[in-house]
Amino acid sequence: MDKEIGHFIGGRRVPGKGSEFGPVFNPATGEQTGRVAFATAEEVDEAVQAAKAAQPAWAALPPIRRARVMFRFKDLLEQNMDRLARMVSEEHGKTLEDARGSVSRGIEVVEFACGIPELLKGDFSQDVGTGVDLLSVRRPLGVCAGITPFNFPAMIPLWMAPLSMACGNAFVVKPSEKDPSCPMFIAELALEAGVPPGVLNVVNGAKEAVNAILAHPDIAAVSFVGSTPVAEYVYRTGTAHGKRVQALGGAKNHMVIMPDADLDMAVDALMGAAYGSAGERCMAVSVAVPIGDEVADALIERLAPRIRQLKIGPGTEPGVEMGPLVTREHLEKVRSYVDLGVEEGAELVVDGRDFRMQGYENGFFIGGCLFDRVTPEMKIYKDEIFGPVLSVVRMPDFDSAVEIINRHQFGNGTAIFTRDGDAARAFANAVDIGMVGINVPIPVPVAYHSFGGWKRSLFGDHHMHGPEGVRFYTRLKAITSRWPTGIRAGAEYKMPVLG
Ligand code: NAD
Repeated sequence: MDKEIGHFIGGRRVPGKGSEFGPVFNPATGEQTGRVAFATAEEVDEAVQAAKAAQPAWAALPPIRRARVMFRFKDLLEQNMDRLARMVSEEHGKTLEDARGSVSRGIEVVEFACGIPELLKGDFSQDVGTGVDLLSVRRPLGVCAGITPFNFPAMIPLWMAPLSMACGNAFVVKPSEKDPSCPMFIAELALEAGVPPGVLNVVNGAKEAVNAILAHPDIAAVSFVGSTPVAEYVYRTGTAHGKRVQALGGAKNHMVIMPDADLDMAVDALMGAAYGSAGERCMAVSVAVPIGDEVADALIERLAPRIRQLKIGPGTEPGVEMGPLVTREHLEKVRSYVDLGVEEGAELVVDGRDFRMQGYENGFFIGGCLFDRVTPEMKIYKDEIFGPVLSVVRMPDFDSAVEIINRHQFGNGTAIFTRDGDAARAFANAVDIGMVGINVPIPVPVAYHSFGGWKRSLFGDHHMHGPEGVRFYTRLKAITSRWPTGIRAGAEYKMPVLG
């Protein structure tokens, strides 16, 4: 164990002052590689005070100057891509190639933030009354905070902090305690790029730090990404304290395979979407919905051997397709869901529970699992498992597929595989889901659009990044102006009517 991770406050790394720490593991070896300090409420307050002190001067800079800092930040992130990807892989477990992809998707949000002068352009109406003009501008909120999950330790902090900073806010990130190294390094790169000390801070920790953020009177807005119970708690507690909150939660994403689909394309898509990143993605496909038994039988026949042949191993080794799960605790949870599926009567076609990785016997590995004949009443269908476990739910027709999707508690993503434009269009319109793919298994919107689910996958009114992100991190100000012209109307005691 060599790493000791504290916090990043006021432009420098500081050790934790509290007595609580959490272990950080390399999931491939199962070894503890470090420990992370858990911030107390006082340490959260220190970060917020540093942010509060730095924010006014940062907000006063012309947006083009903040944009130039973002350009340098983007360059530095790109130059350090390999280092960031390795950090992700060594603490999260995902493959290097996958980690690189996730860092790239985070950098794309920084690219979007580089356009902040254009994004902050206001609305102007000349002559709303005689000699009266109206200007609507978007102003920063002050200090904002982000609470992030373990599964994208670089990308999700990058979904939040750069855009919030570009809008003129200071930011405090509370990363997942399972993989805290990336956000610390990202904060150092931001400083090097020219983000003034205090504008970006990182406080590590768990529940106490989150509660301190939610109750802090100087934090105006909170962005959260994580599991649904915590998302709901963060939303309710944060809004009860008068904050603006966007809280993105869990998912159970269905992929419908129509009888006219290109089956090979659908199988390739399912392999990547269900088993990539060991299923630890909020946009992973965890339910396949083939329409009709013929499609279902053909799908299982093609999927099963591919799942058995998955190249599983440490994410840092070349050629590996699927790495380990993040912690032993999570591994046990995923295994127990597979046990439960068997008890519930689902047919376990591929059983990955006993997978052992030679030379990495203590790693948190599990093989890919495939269930057939899963029904909507089963718990393995209702809950998010967040592992490499795909459930096949056979449905007789399009309408019943749409019906089960709409009845599910989650509404993050979904996809349909078909050659029929009519069916695809009807599907996209009918599903109560935030992000829909047509022959695209993981329809994550690009950075200049916004990301977010419906139902219990998102609490709050704003999706993340893109135009919705700019709206979330700013508030409107309307300025109505008139200049003395020499014409005097005298005092007006009635409601002024312009025009
Ligand atoms: P999590 O909810 O356990 O943790 C998320 C954050 O909340 C972490 O920073 C954690 O420290 C904190 N936290 C955990 N328990 C808490 C508590 N009781 N009180 C206060 N704070 C608490 O989520 P996770 O396991 O890190 O991440 C996986 C989950 O995130 C999955 O459910 C996944 O679907 C979801 N996720 C959603 C999206 C999305 O965009 N909708 C994206 C990625 C991940």
